[in-house]
Amino acid sequence: MANLRNTKLFKERLAQFEKEACQLGVVWVAAEAADILAERIAFTANQLGVTERTALQTYTTPHAISLLAKVLAEHAATYQEVMAEAEPVTITVADAGRMTAALGMVCKLATEQIGKDPGGAAGVLTDAADAIVGISAQIRANDGGGPLSIGGRTLVYSRTVLTGAIEQLTTGVWECPCGEQHLPGSDCCNLVLTLIADPRRRRWLAGRARRTARRPAVGR
Ligand SMILES: [Zn+2]
Repeated sequence: MANLRNTKLFKERLAQFEKEACQLGVVWVAAEAADILAERIAFTANQLGVTERTALQTYTTPHAISLLAKVLAEHAATYQEVMAEAEPVTITVADAGRMTAALGMVCKLATEQIGKDPGGAAGVLTDAADAIVGISAQIRANDGGGPLSIGGRTLVYSRTVLTGAIEQLTTGVWECPCGEQHLPGSDCCNLVLTLIADPRRRRWLAGRARRTARRPAVGR
């Protein structure tokens, strides 16, 4: 991927992405745009079973870039929240595993929406990629196996992805893999319950988990 980032085409797409998102009011930090674009390409490659180079050359069209910029702009509120630094939460390594499992499950659900709602699915996948990378970076940096501190954009992305998926599933916008359409007020199936019922996850989503005293650097 490092090589891909050095290609002329990647730089061209990145310039377009930064410009269009900026025009739509997205505020960038450091190498954020490049990371998002790279993650997007990696996801596309993974979904379609092609190399990242092919994903960039064939599927990351100027139109796809415009779409990505629009999706990102719709999440402008999320970005503002990131800028304001979400208070970090402290969780165990096992909980981090549960979080990444839930995020992975949402990715799977989002890929099934690509045909119906490409923009929405792209947004979910991009945010989920960020969240998974962020959590994994914290796990990797955690030598002793003690508690992890998850903060900033990682936390915001995980919340956005999980609360969004729960909303889409429970309102019947996303077809649940269980085969039933869940409408507001109807019973939840096991899959939805798995996403929402874990008390630790509820705490995480609500931002009421035990907070750390200091703000760590957001892992990347
Ligand atoms: Zn279901």
